[in-house]
Amino acid sequence: MPQIAGLIALGVRNLQPYQPGKPAEALERELGITDIVKLASNENPRGPSPAVIQAMSEVLSGTTRYPDGSGHSLKRTLSEKLNVSIESLTLGNGSNDVLDLVARAFVNPGDEVVVSEHAFAVYVLASMSVNAQLRVVPACEFGHDLKAMAAAVTPKTKVIFVANPNNPTGTYSEAGAVEQFLDGLPGTVLVVLDEAYFEYVTRGDYPNGVELLSRFSNLIVVRTFSKAFGLAGLRVGYGIASEEITEVLNRVRHPFNVNSLALAGAEAALNDETFVAQSVAQNLEGLQQLGSGLDKLGLEWIPSVANFICAKVGPNAAEVYEAMLKQGVIVRPVANYGLPEHLRISVGLEDENTRALIALDKARSAISGS
Ligand SMILES: *Cc1c(COP(=O)(O)O)cnc(C)c1O
Repeated sequence: MPQIAGLIALGVRNLQPYQPGKPAEALERELGITDIVKLASNENPRGPSPAVIQAMSEVLSGTTRYPDGSGHSLKRTLSEKLNVSIESLTLGNGSNDVLDLVARAFVNPGDEVVVSEHAFAVYVLASMSVNAQLRVVPACEFGHDLKAMAAAVTPKTKVIFVANPNNPTGTYSEAGAVEQFLDGLPGTVLVVLDEAYFEYVTRGDYPNGVELLSRFSNLIVVRTFSKAFGLAGLRVGYGIASEEITEVLNRVRHPFNVNSLALAGAEAALNDETFVAQSVAQNLEGLQQLGSGLDKLGLEWIPSVANFICAKVGPNAAEVYEAMLKQGVIVRPVANYGLPEHLRISVGLEDENTRALIALDKARSAISGS
């Protein structure tokens, strides 16, 4: 349909849709197998906290009403936990929504947006949708090269996206490097610090973006309930920034972008600190398990502080992925992130990690032997 092709908005013409991990249900349908292990989307393998399910069931009968469009109760809880004002919080339908709000609220066509090689794909999607000019800065040992990203700034740069830690590599930038980076930037460049895996990181030199907000008025910190809180299916995330930036983000936010179940569930999740602490401890064990399992298979992997590991499987990574699928194990190919020889494995429960390692081993021997 060439007529339609000509109508497409400029930024959307070359847009490749986001490729999500394969849903377990899809594999079930295709292969007719059950007992599938999905380690493809960095979800919390423990499921949501029972307190979340309780809170959501209590609001189910209220779903005839629109949700509180300001999300006041969730924001109040967040503001107490984070020690920030309610006016500095923006709620999103997942944190992806907040990333999109930044692009829509601040980026004009032709403005430059700086991202790192191997960075989270949504930055590129959000920026291209508004017809931004992308500057992709080569990674350094798979992580963000913050010095090079700062050097890529020009008078036309509007936004820099920094994933800390990054997905799919699991790498992180240390506090000193992040502060030096922010110090060196002109205040006219907005920095989005995406801390989707914040709760999982236990390193002493990992910076807390919220603590940097008072010093850097151009900073927007983004977090989510999709990962450590175990609520990926509910779609809730949030941004924390100056009240001035927040007011602008809220101009383009869709009314009622966070539904009433999500508002109630997220608030209960925030209050169940034990659940998050247990998830973090379990994740550290899973990282160890996967790391030493990959070592035994003789595979290199990128050191990760998040809830996934990127393993270097080799030039036949796509075939290995398919062969693992046939064994009922879903991991994530990352060729579209410029990592054609790697597969990303989310940390699962202990027996899920074991199954993934066995499936990976079998897949590799089957392929190399054929
Ligand atoms: C998973 C992830 C998110 C979270 O997306 P939601 O929309 O909140 O589910 C954001 N940033 C990165 C880098 C991620 O990996």
